[in-house]
Amino acid sequence: MDASKYYKLEGDKLVRTHRSCPKCGPSYFLANHYDRSSCGKCGYTVFKRKGIAKGKTTRRAPRKRMKSIDGS
Ligand SMILES: [Zn+2]
Repeated sequence: MDASKYYKLEGDKLVRTHRSCPKCGPSYFLANHYDRSSCGKCGYTVFKRKGIAKGKTTRRAPRKRMKSIDGS
């Protein structure tokens, strides 16, 4: 298997462009998808979360405090 396409040379550093599968070993790389990486062998999938990854994010509609202007 030609692994060279899974690396790129950045300056004098070899940078991994693909993640390897933690289950199958470092010689198995995860296929890159736009929002996730998955192993073609065992099906291991890692989801990529860009930006908003702050632990638990319970998504609720933000509560807006409306000032009652007319003071009813
Ligand atoms: Zn795997």
